[in-house]
Amino acid sequence: MRQCVLIVSRIFILVLAAAGSVFAQANPDWTEPFPPFHIAGNLYYVGSKGLANYLITTPQGNILINSDLEANAPLIEASIEKLGFKLKDTKILLISHAHWDHDAGSAIIKEMTGAAYMVMDADVPIVESGGKTDFEYGNTPTALYPPTKVDRVLHDGDKVRLGGTVLVAHLTPGHTKGCTTWTMQVTDHRKKYNVVILGSPNVNAGYKLVGNLAYPEIAEDYERMWRVLKSLPCDIFLGAHGGYFGLEEKYSLMKEGGANPFVDPSGYKQYIAQKEQDFRTEMARQKLAAK
Ligand SMILES: [Zn+2]
Repeated sequence: MRQCVLIVSRIFILVLAAAGSVFAQANPDWTEPFPPFHIAGNLYYVGSKGLANYLITTPQGNILINSDLEANAPLIEASIEKLGFKLKDTKILLISHAHWDHDAGSAIIKEMTGAAYMVMDADVPIVESGGKTDFEYGNTPTALYPPTKVDRVLHDGDKVRLGGTVLVAHLTPGHTKGCTTWTMQVTDHRKKYNVVILGSPNVNAGYKLVGNLAYPEIAEDYERMWRVLKSLPCDIFLGAHGGYFGLEEKYSLMKEGGANPFVDPSGYKQYIAQKEQDFRTEMARQKLAAK
């Protein structure tokens, strides 16, 4: 019986390891082009089907959120040009968090634009080591990327200003130590909207919430994130992956006309509540397994 349990647990570990390595590989959606479009005010979607990028235009140049995989740089450039803007007008590059699917292309984007790269303090060592110091993926070759110099280190609550636009960096840690949720206000048809661009609420496969030696405060950090996310006023709900906020469905609705489907305060609340519940379920499972 003991032998059997051992074998089963070994198989389980192998399956987990396989899932982890699959996770670290590129998902086909990540490099599949998606039509760029105007969200509201000076905010535009310029990402792929699976990886979200946002362009914020100002009279003094533009802000780009996320650089994605290295392979995405030409896609981002094409999306920006389709909207009538230029990638080289990007003055500031920001990220949702220091994982390769959001920041591997930062070195290329910096080279193409000369933009100032601004990253939350706790994610800076990850970005500048090309992913090598990440608590979970530091030894996963497919999760590594060219180390990129950060030009401004951000702290929780810091403001990024350009041409009259202000973005606020909210530390929402757990998924990475410096995971960042961006907020801004946009004015569209003389109405003001609070925008939330969610960093990531996910507990990835393999994340240890209990007894994590590489990230001992991980569970408290997730708790902090739920508190912050629940405190943010949100009209327009966006995030680091289109899947968080229903990109494809909302884009289709938008093309049909009518009210802007990205204005979705209740969708935001429901999503956060669901993700918090998922976290609590996983936490309970891990606590039980650790007994
Ligand atoms: Zn991530």
